[in-house]
Amino acid sequence: THASLRPDATATSVCGYCSTGCGLRIHLRDGQAVGLTPETDYPVNLGMACPKGWESLRVLESADRATHPLLRNAEGELEPVSWDRALTEFCERFKAIQAAHGADSVAFLSTGQIACEEMALLGVLAKFGMGLKHGDGNTRQCMATAVTAYKESFGFDAPPFTYEDFEQSDCLVFIGANPCIGHPIMWERVLRNQHAPEVIVVDPRSTETAMAATQHLQLRPKSDLVLLYAITRQLIESGYVDHDFVAAHTTGFRELTQHVDSYTPEYAAARTGLSAEKILRAAESIGQAKAASLWWTMGVNQSYEGVRTAQAIINIALITGNIGRPGTGANSITGQCNAMGSRLWSGTTNLFGHHDYADPEHREKIAAVLDIDPGKIPDENGWSYDRIVEGIRCGKIRGLWVIATNPAHSWIHQGDARELLDKLDFLVVQDMYATTETARQADLILPAAGWGEKEGTFINSERRYGVHRRVRVAPGEALADFQIFRAIGAYWGVGEMLTEWTDPEAGFRIMQRASRGQPCDITGIENYAHLDRCGGIQWPWSEADAETKSQGTQPGESMGQYHTPRPHRRLFGNGEFFTPDRRARLIVAEPRGMPELPDADFPMLMLTGRGSVSQWHTQTRTSKSPILRELYPNEPYVELHPDDASRYAIRNGEWVEVSSRRGRAEARALVSPTVRVGQVFMAMHYEETNRLTLSHFDPYSRQPSYKNCAVRLRSIKQ
Ligand code: SF4
Repeated sequence: THASLRPDATATSVCGYCSTGCGLRIHLRDGQAVGLTPETDYPVNLGMACPKGWESLRVLESADRATHPLLRNAEGELEPVSWDRALTEFCERFKAIQAAHGADSVAFLSTGQIACEEMALLGVLAKFGMGLKHGDGNTRQCMATAVTAYKESFGFDAPPFTYEDFEQSDCLVFIGANPCIGHPIMWERVLRNQHAPEVIVVDPRSTETAMAATQHLQLRPKSDLVLLYAITRQLIESGYVDHDFVAAHTTGFRELTQHVDSYTPEYAAARTGLSAEKILRAAESIGQAKAASLWWTMGVNQSYEGVRTAQAIINIALITGNIGRPGTGANSITGQCNAMGSRLWSGTTNLFGHHDYADPEHREKIAAVLDIDPGKIPDENGWSYDRIVEGIRCGKIRGLWVIATNPAHSWIHQGDARELLDKLDFLVVQDMYATTETARQADLILPAAGWGEKEGTFINSERRYGVHRRVRVAPGEALADFQIFRAIGAYWGVGEMLTEWTDPEAGFRIMQRASRGQPCDITGIENYAHLDRCGGIQWPWSEADAETKSQGTQPGESMGQYHTPRPHRRLFGNGEFFTPDRRARLIVAEPRGMPELPDADFPMLMLTGRGSVSQWHTQTRTSKSPILRELYPNEPYVELHPDDASRYAIRNGEWVEVSSRRGRAEARALVSPTVRVGQVFMAMHYEETNRLTLSHFDPYSRQPSYKNCAVRLRSIKQ
């Protein structure tokens, strides 16, 4: 009845979709969620939420939730089995593969969707307990470029900003980013900016954000590095360099100046397709701004030269002194709710807490923190995602454990990825749903609780730890990933190693010890309740910080429901970076050509990206909400320019075939001038899109270059 749904309590939980990290107020009845509203006073979203957040609870109720372990039988069918049988099978099959082919013949693929504590526990269990040398996160697909760029330029993977910078900047530059739909609450923060800011969007497509910008630089795909160097040259020539800052806090300015010297406005205009005037105007806007901020997402990251492009953005912020002050920064916006947690805690390509596997002192430190034999810690990084995939191809990887990710949909050149998954001797999928494209290929499915059915911390794009709470009972026998990892540890025979990991908050305390002395030190956080009281806390927050600082709160600022000062912190205010000499590096490279250009056979260039504010990744969750499904097309679509529609005799709304050298897909034509002539756009949320994409990677970060490949169109009259 209506009365039985009336809440008797509330709890605050950080949203489990995107990296914005909005606070959601969960309405409880007898400890169970009956509804939610955006948290009005959470310092991230200030009472706002996007449709995905509003629908967070509904997707948990889906009929295709994984409720029991499922094991493939002799007839090839998945059948329910007990947890005991599932865990026994998990251990026996993987151990048999290791015995026959070596410990490193089993690998894992993890995610940015589970809690920090779960990632940390998984890393400890898999790498130091089970001896799996190779494991990577799906964050390789979205954030690896930013990680490498920051590490090389700043000495640590350290996004410097806080969301207040959206409101305090008088020139915001979005490069390969569409926050209107990709990060809508961040865009709302831009709309709250009272400085009448210049908003410059660099994007080959006329996105929702580009349409709202004051300047849209609609450049040729992947000419962004040329444009950024031309802007850099212009900033230097026009006298907008902060020479005091450059001299005191950077290295490489002379080399940078020499490198960009040939990137004249005319040269850049010819390469980018923009007019020289547009390039000059953008440079002037950045140069004249009191506080300019530069933001990037997947248009930069998912590129074959993503790292050097990100560093060209970082260079601009550094030479103009736009770092460490309100409204500034070279700011990578991350994607998943806990991509940032994955970067610090997954133990995949960084050792636990962003330490270095190759450094003996780091291995000693982490061994002491975890109370394990240092010999259990490998002395080198494991393989990145693409190398694990290639390891399957050449037979070195025989067993794979996939946790909360869906490579059969999301990995580049999907047909190849699916064939490789079929080659495995044993594929385990641990997921909330038994129906993902990857789960359908699995030999064993471990049913996992979802967001709202377990607890832990996420780190958002501005480095803020926030807690998500258990407000609902998981269906059937589904267990929290944390519990599954502990159970696997016990069945594998390494339960003793995990004794201290009794629950997520105990895991958090271990993480705090590991963070001591690191740039991401969080030893000053008291406990989860402290995070709740503060509306989350940004790293670093060391014991020394806790004693000496008030997290930047202005006197008289409303505290709302939070009883401790609001944390708004940006990095590098003192000009000190995390490199050995405390100076940031200005790094440059020659732009390279696109790996696959349109030609006579495949004359169009395909762009990919997010399609709608109400979709998320491979739609594993968002497709379960009738409301979200109403808000976006249920069928794949391809955007094409009206001139191309005439050329190929394609009418709006009819089905067309899109094919590349890798595969073919059918999609509805969406005729629109949002794309340029000769280009098409397909959204990543439909499994058809990655049938077409090209396996190509940034050489430094190994991030896939999803954004560009050659395709052709054909009308299918139905
Ligand atoms: Fe959740 Fe992101 Fe939407 Fe906020 S913007 S409600 S974090 S999906």
